[in-house]
Amino acid sequence: KKITIAIDGFSSTGKSTLAKQLAKHLGYVYVDTGAMYRAVTFFAMQNGYINIDSFDKETLINSLPSIKLQFKFNADFGFAEMYLNDVNVEKEIRTIEVSNFVSKVAEVSEVRAKLVEQQKEMGKDKGIVMDGRDIGTVVFPDAELKIFMTAGADTRAQRRFDELQEKGDSVTYEEVLKNVEERDYIDTHRKDSPLVMAEDAIEIDNSHLTREEQFKVVLDLVDE
Ligand code: C5P
Repeated sequence: KKITIAIDGFSSTGKSTLAKQLAKHLGYVYVDTGAMYRAVTFFAMQNGYINIDSFDKETLINSLPSIKLQFKFNADFGFAEMYLNDVNVEKEIRTIEVSNFVSKVAEVSEVRAKLVEQQKEMGKDKGIVMDGRDIGTVVFPDAELKIFMTAGADTRAQRRFDELQEKGDSVTYEEVLKNVEERDYIDTHRKDSPLVMAEDAIEIDNSHLTREEQFKVVLDLVDE
């Protein structure tokens, strides 16, 4: 019987790696909700609604109806990619610039309401693995399996740094660590749907687990 799997946790804890492994193994659909917040942030940056000095929330809120978000499956990649108003933005949304603004955009209630509604719709049928910050608490409070992932900030920053370097991003480790810590702070302190572990979630600290070990732990939970 197919179930709904919610994976939440702090930034760069490897949520998407685990979610993809599970989706592939179980034949489930994987949805990366962070990509949706990142795409809205990229839209706001492109239109000049957010920059280092200012954030014009009102204009962003008013233009929400003109933001179309879609996931389209890429067979080469094996997973869906993010499309913003019919343009593939998968690469653009992963930069450190987007990471530096995304938590501010994710604080806006109107943004959250729009994305949560779309996420609920995508998960109407069971057989879904969704990762984010509020999946087990807000999007699917009735999910059969909820995982909450944690790891030390330095471990997480190192992982994200390695990933960005591999992509050729000329970012420093210090910059990545600062970003991870800032996002954790904003995500846990915002008024609307702050990042908290659902009461019935299972916490996994993967500071000292390999991908394979972690995958095994979670697969056993799925089988129970
Ligand atoms: O998962 P990822 O690190 O790509 O998410 C980027 C940001 O989007 C998070 O730091 C958080 O501010 C926001 N987010 C959120 N709720 C989600 C998913 C992401 O607020 N469900």
